[in-house]
Amino acid sequence: MNIILLGPPGAGKGTQAQRLVERHGMRQLSTGDMLRAAVKAGTPVGLQAKAVMERGELVSDEIVSALIGEELDSLGPDAGAIFDGYPRTAAQAESLDAILADRGRKLDHVIELGVDEDALVDRITGRFTCASCGKGYHDRFEQPREPGVCDRCGGTEFKRRPDDNEETVRTRMAEYRAKTAPILPIYDARGIVARVNGMAAMDDVTAAIEKIVAA
Ligand code: AMP
Repeated sequence: MNIILLGPPGAGKGTQAQRLVERHGMRQLSTGDMLRAAVKAGTPVGLQAKAVMERGELVSDEIVSALIGEELDSLGPDAGAIFDGYPRTAAQAESLDAILADRGRKLDHVIELGVDEDALVDRITGRFTCASCGKGYHDRFEQPREPGVCDRCGGTEFKRRPDDNEETVRTRMAEYRAKTAPILPIYDARGIVARVNGMAAMDDVTAAIEKIVAA
């Protein structure tokens, strides 16, 4: 199964992708995670992407589509794929069609997480993750049970994304509105879009996604 999770920054794509991974053994293909890893490793792609990401703008279509192709090749042919944060432009949507077709895969669902933009800024600017296992937390909505200690792995170091500040978040949302939202009609025309209320409680969002995946 091949699924796209679509929605503005902070809609919960990463969280829901992780849950699909845990429940179904699918693989999460997050271009944001791949780019952050490239920046950290100081690869040529990382060096090119760093400043663009810090501004909240989009990295070039060629770079992200190449990353997705490579990552997909590292999956077994039977492993399901969850595209998280890709495609983000019409050109990327076109590339994804070709990338999937080349590998004998087809897109099953595009799940759009609908959210209220004002709430997103609050969600994003408060979030942080465990530096060891990646579990997500939030200043107001989900602190670790024991302050400073990760619930899942006991790690004591946490990190915040440098692009999770208000100014960059506003740019990321504007990019979503201008370049990503317009690709929905492409998938609507194929009858594969399912819309989920991303403002609902996290477990309810998961339940709604489970229904779509099981259908
Ligand atoms: P994300 O983790 O999905 O919020 O992505 C973080 C940042 O990485 C974005 O603000 C972009 O600068 C860049 N990025 C991630 N995925 C893409 C993509 N598919 N196309 C272009 N830029 C991307």
